[in-house]
Formats: sequence, structure tokens, C-alpha cells
Amino acid sequence: MSDLLTINEALALVLDRIRRLPAEPVAIEDAAGRVTAEDVVAEVELPPFRSSAMDGFAVRAADTPGTLAIVDRVAAGRPSDRVLGPGEAMAISTGGVVPEGADTVVPIEIVAVSGNAVEISEPAEHGASVRPVGGDVAAGAVVLPAGLRLTPARIGALAAAGVASVSCARRPRAAVLSTGTELRRPGEPLGPGQIYESNSLMLAAALAAAGAEVVRLEPVADDEDAHREALARGLEADVLVSSGGVSVGPHDLVRAVGGELGIEEVFWRVAVKPGKPVAFGVRGDTLVFGLPGNPVSALVGFELFVRPALRALAGETSPEPRFEPGTLAEALRRAPARDQLVRARIEPSQDGVLLRPLRGQDSHMIVRAAAADALVHVPRGEGELAAGSAVRYLAI
Ligand code: AMP
Ligand code: MG
Repeated sequence: MSDLLTINEALALVLDRIRRLPAEPVAIEDAAGRVTAEDVVAEVELPPFRSSAMDGFAVRAADTPGTLAIVDRVAAGRPSDRVLGPGEAMAISTGGVVPEGADTVVPIEIVAVSGNAVEISEPAEHGASVRPVGGDVAAGAVVLPAGLRLTPARIGALAAAGVASVSCARRPRAAVLSTGTELRRPGEPLGPGQIYESNSLMLAAALAAAGAEVVRLEPVADDEDAHREALARGLEADVLVSSGGVSVGPHDLVRAVGGELGIEEVFWRVAVKPGKPVAFGVRGDTLVFGLPGNPVSALVGFELFVRPALRALAGETSPEPRFEPGTLAEALRRAPARDQLVRARIEPSQDGVLLRPLRGQDSHMIVRAAAADALVHVPRGEGELAAGSAVRYLAI
């Protein structure tokens, strides 16, 4: 067993085979969750003009304290057409253009207005409440570098900088295939020895949430012809994710039939629990992940290898699994030869995240696993990891 690839070795082999998908222009309205393929620069200065940070009065700081004549009113989008002279003030609202001649905005809360005059009793600080031109970003400067996933704040930043369309890798097409003679669709009656098929739905949901366009193929029985036909269809996608049929039993056909179809196997089996029999191969530009059939093994294989692959296809700068630090709430037994990913609940605490392992860690226990927020990484070794140990986890 010790000659199995480690998780990191296997991941490196996956990422090595991936080139970013070709880029396409994406309207900013549709770009949430996509990844920038190029640096994106600001179309304008932001703010584009000296803008008021407060509702108040635009003045010359040198005129304060004092009583000033209100000579105009400026609203957002309605600049004044006059220059502010000495001894003058203009009422201004937040986002209004600070008029030429003014250098400061005094908030409305600290002035007294009577008729057409405003009395300012304290000296104003020069430049107060005036947002300088380009203070957020200069025109032509990089708003976002290439390789970043567009979060809501980043979409907002692009829009604010006047960017209407952004270049992003096209979305990957992913095909999902479940294998197993025993599998039935939820809603159908179960015959002897049959179980409900859950992996293709779980994997399709995970792929779609990770940004792929998903085709769910009809599950196939453990039959070579059925495998051949379905795998051939799946190979038309950018990513083919199968489940089941990658172990050593006589009915495990995915790798053999895949080989006949020209899939070059890059690795099979990784020192991870659950999920050891995971296979990865390529045919042309298509990436092929053969995940094990046990649902929790398939889930772990997805998080360790498929999700990073999708990130790399999208051109994300750091596609690797995003482990975060946490503290183990209870002791966990290590496995001597395999790293484990243990399902756990996240308990927020004052000193960070406490990870409480769930009962029911067998790889078929998808219902138990569904209560988890985290996959805790337990490095291989002897003995146990004590309660209170610092660990890494993947949020799921
Ligand atoms: P396999 O990897 O094909 O040997 O399958 C391992 C275990 O996972 C078996 O108990 C299968 O019945 C179960 N299994 C395989 N595929 C699925 C699936 N799509 N949904 C739920 N369980 C599955
Ligand atoms: Mg099977």
C-alpha cells in the first residue's frame, strides 16, 4: 500500500494535464462565478470626479469658521455650472460633484442654516469629505488580475470601473456517468439486491455548482457494451466523471473499457481513505475521472481532484483544494498507510473553528456524511490525533 500515490502527487498529475479552456467575452451581468482570463483594467477614473462623501455644504476650508452665502444646490448627477467663490457655500448631497473653487465639504449635521446663509462654527479640515478623482482606481489601472473567480464584490468592482464585458474561459462541459447493475432511480421500486442511484445526482449538482455545464448520462449496468457506448458519449465532454466500477472485481469495467476507447490512464489508486480506487486518465483534451462507487468515496474524490481540475480549466490561479485551519474536537485514530478525510461538523468557537467528527464514517454512509460541513484531513500514521490537535479541513 505504501507505494500508492499520495493525494498531492495525484493532484499534481491531474493539474499537469490541464490547460485553461479558450476564453470568450462574457457580459458582466452573466459573469458571476466565472474566472478572469486576462487582467481587467478600469475604463474610467473611480471616482470619475471629485465627489462629496457627505450630505452638507461645499466650501473653501479657509472660509471656516464663518457664515457663508448659499449660492447653489448640487445633487448627485446634477453638478453646478458655477465656480464657488470666496465667502460662498453650495449645498451638496453625497455623490454630488464638488464644485470648482470648493475644497471641502462640511457635513450638514454640524452647521446651522438660516435662510440663504449657512453658519459653520468650527474650522473645517482642508479636503474633508471630498473623495479625490481616481482615489479607488485610476483609469487604465488593473481592477482585477487574470485568474480570479468573480465574487459579488469583484463583479461590483468591474461594473463600477465601467467594464461591460470580461474575457473568461468558456465553461467546461462535464458528463456524469454512474455504473452498476444494482442501481435504480429514486421513485422506482427496489428489487432484490438493488439500491437507489445517488452519485450521478450528487456529482451533477457538485459540477454545476462549480460552474460546469452538466450532462447526466443514463446510468449503465455492469456490461461492457453499455459501458462502451456511454463512455464514448461522455468522452465528447471536457470532463467525464464516472462513478463505480474502478475496483478490482470482475464487474469493474470502467478502466478496461476506457482503455479500449483510447483513454490513457495517468493514475489509479491513491493513498486516501475513503476513495482509494480513484482513477484519472485523459483522451485528447478530455479529462476522465473514475470515482469509486461508494458515495462518500465519490464525494471525497470530487473535492480532492475534480473540483481543482475545474478550477484549473477555468484558469484560476490557485486551483488546489482550499484547506483551512481548525482544531479537532475529539481524538481520531490515524490510518497507517492512507491519509483520511473525516466527515465533521464545524462548531465555531472563540479561537476559530472546532471540528467535531461525525458518527458513521463508513464510505457508503452518505446520509451520515450529509450532516457534515467539513472534510478533516488526518495524515496517515500510527496511533491517534489527540483532541485539540491542529488540523486542516475542506469546507463542503
Ligand atoms: P463499486 O465502486 O462499483 O464497486 O461500488 C461500490 C459501492 O458503491 C457498491 O456498494 C455500490 O452499490 C455503490 N454504488 C455504486 N454506484 C453507486 C451510485 N451511483 N449511487 C449509489 N451507490 C453506488
Ligand atoms: Mg459497481
